[in-house]
Amino acid sequence: MAQIYTDIPLDFTADMVLRGQGADPAVVRVRRPVLVDLAEKAIDVGAGLVSPAVIHDTFSVSKDKQTGIFLNGIYALAGELISEQLDGADRIALAIVTIGSALEEKIHQAGHDGDMALSLALDGLANAAVDMLSFWYCQKIEQQAEAAGQSSTIAFSPGMLGWSVEQGQPQVFAALQPDPQLVRLLPSGMMLPRKSASMAIGLGGQIQRGGKPCKFCSMNSMCSYHQALETP
Ligand code: SF4
Repeated sequence: MAQIYTDIPLDFTADMVLRGQGADPAVVRVRRPVLVDLAEKAIDVGAGLVSPAVIHDTFSVSKDKQTGIFLNGIYALAGELISEQLDGADRIALAIVTIGSALEEKIHQAGHDGDMALSLALDGLANAAVDMLSFWYCQKIEQQAEAAGQSSTIAFSPGMLGWSVEQGQPQVFAALQPDPQLVRLLPSGMMLPRKSASMAIGLGGQIQRGGKPCKFCSMNSMCSYHQALETP
């Protein structure tokens, strides 16, 4: 049965909020310092509305040449990305992270009140919170694997190249069966609360980390951050 972590320390900085808006903090500080003030306001207004939860479990892996990977012998985990990257895993950790709906409501309220700048900054805060939760969980799993003398892969999420949202989300939700009061899956593949993320991480004695997430990101052909990384 899936476990839930809620007592997760989240300390925000204005730079995190700016990155959550897709901006480069160094550039913003020079060209539009007013956005830094807005990011700080968003933290004052919105940080207390973040209600973190990480629903997770670790599963044994069995493989079948025809049908692919099964978790605990029951739940199928399939997709080109999964077959390529998690085939060597002895165990697979699944997680859904969410920040609840209160901050999202505040984002909408600010927009409704005509304060679009604050609404966007709050949206950046919410994205930063989801990223922090995902990072917190990945680090926890990595440390647990190291303590057991094993390795872990990077986190693979539905929506990455080779594991579509339509394919991956129902697989993750079927295996974790989260409380719908915390997070639920819509037929579109979208999660509610919207500010949530799901992932799979492989664990094992022989497993490779798999490279950088950008390599598998469906936005990598148009993302300037990825292109910057690739440019010598
Ligand atoms: S390509 Fe990399 S930096 Fe760009 S959105 Fe994807 S994961 Fe993020």
